Amino acid sequence: MTNVEQDRWSRVKGRLRSSVGEDVYSSWFARMDLESVQDESVHLSVPTRFLKSWIQAHYAERVLTCWQAEMPQVHRVDVTVRTAMRVNAPVKEVAAPVEARRSEGRDGRPSSELRATAIAPVSATHEALGGSPLDPRLTFGSFVVGRSNTLAHAAARQVAEGRRGDSVMFNPLYIHAGVGLGKTHLLQAVTWAGNSGAERKVLYLTAEKFMYGFVAALKTQTALAFKEALRGIDVLVIDDMQFLQGKTTQAEFCHTLNALIDAGRQVVIAADRPPADLESLDERVRSRLAGGLVVEMGSLGEELRLGILKSRVAAARAHHATFEVPLPVLDYLARTITHNGRDLEGAINRLLAHSKLNATPVTLEMAEREVRDLIRPMEPKRIKIEDIQRVVARQYNVSRSDLLSSRRTANVVRPRQVAMYLAKTLTLRSLPEIGRRFGGRDHTTVLHAVRKIEALVGKDVALQDEVESLKRQLQE
Ligand code: ADP
Ligand code: MG
Repeated sequence: MTNVEQDRWSRVKGRLRSSVGEDVYSSWFARMDLESVQDESVHLSVPTRFLKSWIQAHYAERVLTCWQAEMPQVHRVDVTVRTAMRVNAPVKEVAAPVEARRSEGRDGRPSSELRATAIAPVSATHEALGGSPLDPRLTFGSFVVGRSNTLAHAAARQVAEGRRGDSVMFNPLYIHAGVGLGKTHLLQAVTWAGNSGAERKVLYLTAEKFMYGFVAALKTQTALAFKEALRGIDVLVIDDMQFLQGKTTQAEFCHTLNALIDAGRQVVIAADRPPADLESLDERVRSRLAGGLVVEMGSLGEELRLGILKSRVAAARAHHATFEVPLPVLDYLARTITHNGRDLEGAINRLLAHSKLNATPVTLEMAEREVRDLIRPMEPKRIKIEDIQRVVARQYNVSRSDLLSSRRTANVVRPRQVAMYLAKTLTLRSLPEIGRRFGGRDHTTVLHAVRKIEALVGKDVALQDEVESLKRQLQE
């Protein structure tokens, strides 16, 4: 490259820097090189595919303008990925402090399965990558499979067992379930299992950690390092997706997601609701999330609860050999603690504490006393907007697409209003979200429908009965 070209390139970079600001410049453009200038087109290169697509999506115009200020004849700027050795620099391995997480383990010495996969190196490497802490007890070995989680478990296993270079079957894998139904357990199991072979890297991040990591990286201007680290990841696991918030973070997340998926890396996501219900997320992100395999884990059946209790007792016995819980007590707990896995875990911890402190065996009577407050009234069922539409359509003998359509005939308008009213009262969805789910209507339309039905129910006994009956059908 000639000196003239070099000078020109320096000036273009100077323009770009003052146009986007120092922070943005150093995050995205610091490693951009000029490859060549030919007639009307300029050829630039960056070290990663990710940077390339980010720059093309957000800064293409800006870069062109800066060039045109120096060379008005330029009409095209091409950005390509350099294939230098720098690309995909291996992520720094960190010497593993032995016993790293073991000392922090809540009550668990690792099971033998875990010991075999060498916890300390796995978690040290994982943390060096910036991953969220992993709980050594949350492995496939301790995950109990039952009717409600068979599919999610199978998909997770498949992901964990994939090998570098394998074609990815479903991407992203999106798992959703209510609180305490095993999402984190399954995701961490994928991470442990996936990282146990040296060959692949699985990174587990909570959505908060993703946000924090990214924002922090931008502040210290090491966004590039963060990106580069992500590029060295074979499987990215994101937990509690519902907490991902903020426009910039979302744009960033969306980009990361696209870049990873396009590069054939696996992405696994868990959230407390299906993609369509992640209201604060951009439509594009939602549809990308829904574009792989979406699996719901239902509530824990009694058999599964019993299985989880037994596995918890077995884990506790690894330390407390004398700890025993008679089967009738386990049955009692499985029958009465229906809420979620956390309460099951809590129940066993209490029985253990009580029997240790008082040096008494566990009895049914003691169990009843100890776990009284964990027994909650039946959780109301999580009702979905689709269920409401289906049940209402059936009741009024119209089709679901009629409800979503723009038809305004009386036989459709009233059922539609009833359905919107039920959606507002039986789910936690916002008015705009409900509008969107009813054929893209405005939130004021939903509000109008809700008010209308509220007013009518007060006056019209027949309608009141109808609404009550619909509610019963949805809750049973
Ligand atoms: P979530 O992330 O969905 O809120 P967690 O994965 O944290 O739920 O699970 C809550 C508790 O229940 C944990 O102690 C977890 O080990 C246990 N648990 C849930 N499902 C299972 C399962 N299928 N097998 C074993 N333990 C489970
Ligand atoms: Mg969780």
